[in-house]
Amino acid sequence: MKYSRFSSRFKRDSGVLRLMQDLGDALDCGENIQMLGGGNPANIAEVGGVLRREMERLLADGGKFEQMVGNYDSPQGNRAFIEALAELLTEVFDHPIGRDNIAITNGSQAGFGILFNLFAGRYADGAFRKILLPVTPEYIGYGEVGLDDQPFFTANRPVIEDIDEITFKYRVDFERLELDADGEIGAVCISRPTNPTGNVVTDREMEKLCRLTRAAGVPLIVDSAYGPPFPSIVFNQAKPLWDDHIIFCLSLSKLGLPGVRTGIIVANADVIGQVTSSNAIFNLAPGRFGPSLVTGLLRSRELLSLCGETIMPYYRQKSRHALRLVSELMADLPVRVHSSEGGIFLWLWFPDMPISCETLYQRLKQRGVLVIAGQHFFPGLAQPWRHCDECIRVTYATDRAQIERGMQIIAEEVRRAYESDAATTEVAKTATR
Ligand code: PLP
Repeated sequence: MKYSRFSSRFKRDSGVLRLMQDLGDALDCGENIQMLGGGNPANIAEVGGVLRREMERLLADGGKFEQMVGNYDSPQGNRAFIEALAELLTEVFDHPIGRDNIAITNGSQAGFGILFNLFAGRYADGAFRKILLPVTPEYIGYGEVGLDDQPFFTANRPVIEDIDEITFKYRVDFERLELDADGEIGAVCISRPTNPTGNVVTDREMEKLCRLTRAAGVPLIVDSAYGPPFPSIVFNQAKPLWDDHIIFCLSLSKLGLPGVRTGIIVANADVIGQVTSSNAIFNLAPGRFGPSLVTGLLRSRELLSLCGETIMPYYRQKSRHALRLVSELMADLPVRVHSSEGGIFLWLWFPDMPISCETLYQRLKQRGVLVIAGQHFFPGLAQPWRHCDECIRVTYATDRAQIERGMQIIAEEVRRAYESDAATTEVAKTATR
């Protein structure tokens, strides 16, 4: 079949496609797969119980269920949900957030698709502007959403700070951050906590990014899919920031509802108008299920206590367990691990590993362990960087036995690579460190 050039956007080997297929295959065929690769949140019994109770309330409340499944919402999204959220966000930001500041999308992935295409690409003045990622590695899902042949992203290498012998942290390299390079930047985007690293970019770094973007006249897109106010999977602290040029993105997925596909964009009314039009054109309206299920929890603030008292402590304990496994099982290996400050992943770095992380991924897959190879998380880097081939992402949002078995096999394969593959180093010698 012949396709238009549009089809070239949907490459069969994109990282995100592979990730989601691995995830689906593992869930379908199950038992002997240690699924440490996907982005599914954990199945937390207390959270499931609360969601089930809300669903039962919905079903029992005369006509609510029929309205939910039987009516389109407006293209901006469910009004009751938006009003409850505006009230909550006014408290969170200590700044008035109104209905005009919020739009719903069918998952935040779809929201990023809209936002990146609004701010990157060809402008009326002829300039081609890009999305700047101030720190890479960054979320795999951003990489391929641009509907243009030219690259949509430009990215900054981070400063790598040693926290202790094993732990490191990426910091924004403000000295290299070129925000107003020839008006090339359409927007800046950062996920906080960061997928894949668990980095929580500090409040000071965020404030500086906010100042710099405001001065440069470009929006700052903050992806809070794991951050405050929900699900708020943050183990240290992260103050959410608001300004008229900030576009703050939330999702219901990581608190336990990836199946309902609800994303949230909070921004000035002009941006929200653009997102609303795009919703109408591509979707007619966003789905009603997620908003209908969660509005009561937002109004009562039970959602916040669920996040603070159940969801965050659950992942903090999972993260500690996974870190313990790294120290125990890889004590003889030159492994480094990113400071685990939030989210649901560990980011492991194997400096000078003689094989690429893609080869490691393939070997692990053969042994029934799915991880994500690091090279997918560096969209927009102009110069080759060997570091990209030395890292993997591992989820800890899975059960204890899977993590233990999976980590053991990872340790074995990495050991084998350092011991047996050293002579045939395959990682490009030209790649700079
Ligand atoms: N942003 C980040 C950082 C993510 O990790 C994800 C999913 O894994 C998303 C956005 C997209 O989430 P969703 O489309 O389920 O809202």
